[in-house]
This record gives sequence, structure tokens and C-alpha cells, in this order.
Amino acid sequence: MAAPKVAVVGAGLIGLSTALCISEAFPSCRLSVLSEQFSPNTTGDVAAGMLIPHTYPGTPIHVQKQWFKETFTYLFAISNSAEASEAGIHLVSGWQVFKTPPKDEVPFWSDIVLGFRPMSAAELQKFPQHRSGQAFTTLKCDCPPYLLWLEKRLRANGVQVHTRKVADLWELHREYDVVVNCTGIGAHQLGGDPELLPVRGQVLKVHAPWVKHFIRDGDGSTYVYPGIDSVTLGGTREKGSWSLSPDPGTTKDIFDRCRSLEPSLQRAQDVRVKVGLRPSRSSVRLQREVLSRGGAKLLVVHSYGHGAGGFSVHRGTAKEATRLVGECIAALQGSSSRAKL
Ligand code: FAD
Repeated sequence: MAAPKVAVVGAGLIGLSTALCISEAFPSCRLSVLSEQFSPNTTGDVAAGMLIPHTYPGTPIHVQKQWFKETFTYLFAISNSAEASEAGIHLVSGWQVFKTPPKDEVPFWSDIVLGFRPMSAAELQKFPQHRSGQAFTTLKCDCPPYLLWLEKRLRANGVQVHTRKVADLWELHREYDVVVNCTGIGAHQLGGDPELLPVRGQVLKVHAPWVKHFIRDGDGSTYVYPGIDSVTLGGTREKGSWSLSPDPGTTKDIFDRCRSLEPSLQRAQDVRVKVGLRPSRSSVRLQREVLSRGGAKLLVVHSYGHGAGGFSVHRGTAKEATRLVGECIAALQGSSSRAKL
């Protein structure tokens, strides 16, 4: 058969990283990315991009650990290359602090981040309201740079990139053999998935270049994450809220909470407020589906629902989605050779 035509719908973190993985694994595919929005208007542009896993209750821990490990290994190599600053990938050290000790004293990802250890009594003096903590070094993906770097690599691999809103995946069935659905919260409407819900997050991006360590308070409701050009202060987790408008009361509350962890933020400048919708469900939907109407078929691979942890697992889920695309291509090749017989 002719080279299979594959479309990835969505140009957020998941769409771009999945398209890059497909273009590397199947260079002879005719691959396109179709998306309504691009960076800087995606969820990843709001996020801090820290590699600290969120737990998906519907996915076995060993699978989540594998996704995190693959992502960490991939980004660690970039952070250790000449590409690091252009890609916006850097190591960052800091602390996760607790007022009451966590249920799991050693999280499942502790042997993947670097130098994980309990905080010393001397370190804890910085946080008089907290009783214990963990120190480690992890990675951070700054956006837009990381998304722009992914897009540049895609174009270098010959991938076509188009601005297009897809009203129904079926509208692509005449143009493409396989469609990969990476539409984030857009899948609520596009795929009619009732399990997928927004978890609204409001953050502040501030200029405070003297803040070099990350601080995460227990369950991650308050955090200070320093990046290359700005520090991300967070946050909120509002289940079921679709509002993308910043709330001034929440801005003040986030600033106050972060200042109580890092008093020097009092002098932070150039405060920008951003809101994003985490595409949340109990597990990432990584699944093949065959759509059929009137005897015609369209092979679909879904990869959405990364919730609060897309950065932490994106390369791992991109590899799994690529494996599913490979199964679709094999099925197409099988059916075309059967048709010739
Ligand atoms: P999106 O970025 O929303 O991309 C979806 C894409 O699909 C967009 O390009 C959109 O235009 C396109 N699209 C949608 N519908 C259609 C359609 N019908 N037709 C065509 N195109 C369509 N994760 C971490 O791991 N670490 C963190 O520190 C972290 N911090 C976060 C902080 C906040 C405040 C938020 C909101 C999220 C955070 N996350 C974090 C989570 C992470 O940002 C998300 O998991 C990730 O960005 C989701 O990426 P996505 O590509 O699935 O979605």
C-alpha cells in the first residue's frame, strides 16, 4: 500500500510530542498535525511543566512509573545537550514540605528523580510551619520554548502543520488512514467522553530571578516553581469549572500562600495571571478505536486525559500511542495485501 496518511489532532504538549514520536518511528508515514490552537494558547503554556508525577487512580502504578521513567530519561538527555536552553529543559532542585507526614513516605517515583532524600533539620528551619519534607532534583519544561522546539523538530522531519478545528473525527476519514486524538479537554466535545472533566488551574508568572529552588506544599495546592525567565506560583484545582477568566481574589490568595513559603516573593515584579483547564479523568485514555459508518472505516488512536501530570509522562504516553499507531498501520497493510489477493 502507499505510505499511510496519519493525522494528529491537537498541537498541545501531547499532540506535538506524540507526532514527534510517530515521525521518528514511522518516517515513511505522511504525517500532519491539525489543531485549532498552538502555543502560546495551549494548556502547557499555563503549566509550570515540573516533572513531579500526579497519580492516575485508574492506571497501574508500574505503568505510570514506566511513563515517568521514559519521560525523565528523554528530557534528562536533552537537559544535558547543547539543545537544552532552546528546548527550555533544565534541572531544578528543591523541596516538597509537609505539615502532616504523607501517607506514602517514599513516592513511587523517588528512584527516578535525582538525589531523593528526607530533608535535614537545618533545611526544615526554612519552613517553620512544616514538620517534614523531601529534597530532590527533577526536570522542568519551560513553555512556550519546549512546545516551539517540538514543533521545529516536527517540521524538520517533514511533518505538515495546519490550523484547523475538527468538528467530528469522522470528517477526516476520506483524507487520512489513521487519526490520533490528542485534543486534551477538547475531547469532551469531540469524542463525547463524559468521564473527561476540566480541573481549572490559575497560576501567576512572576519575575523573581533570585528564587532558584522549587517549593511544593504537601498535596501540591501551593507551589513556587522557578523557570528560566519566570517563577510560576500556584495554584488552584477547581473540578468541573470551565472558566478561563482569571479571578482577582484567587490571584491575591495564591500570592499570599506562596509568600508564606518564600517571603522574598514580596519583591516579585511583572505579575502575569494565567488560567488553564487540566483535561482530567481517572486514567489517560490510550486506546485504539475503529469508527465505521456506511461500510467505511476510520482507525483512531486516543491519547488524552493527562490531567495534572502531562509533562511528567508525555514521552511515555507518546511512545504507547505510537505503538498503537503501529498496530493500525499493520492492520491497514494486512487488509490491503488481502485485498490484492
Ligand atoms: P492541550 O494543551 O489543551 O492541547 C489540546 C490541543 O488540542 C490544543 O492545541 C487545542 O487547540 C487542540 N484541540 C482541541 N479540540 C480541538 C478540535 N476540535 N479540533 C482541533 N484541535 C483541537 N503537568 C505536569 O506534569 N507538571 C506540572 O507542573 C503541571 N502544572 C500544571 C499547572 C496548571 C495550572 C495546569 C492547568 C496544568 C498543569 N499540568 C502540569 C498539566 C499539563 O499542563 C497538561 O496535562 C497538559 O498540558 C495537557 O496537554 P494536552 O496536549 O493534552 O492539552
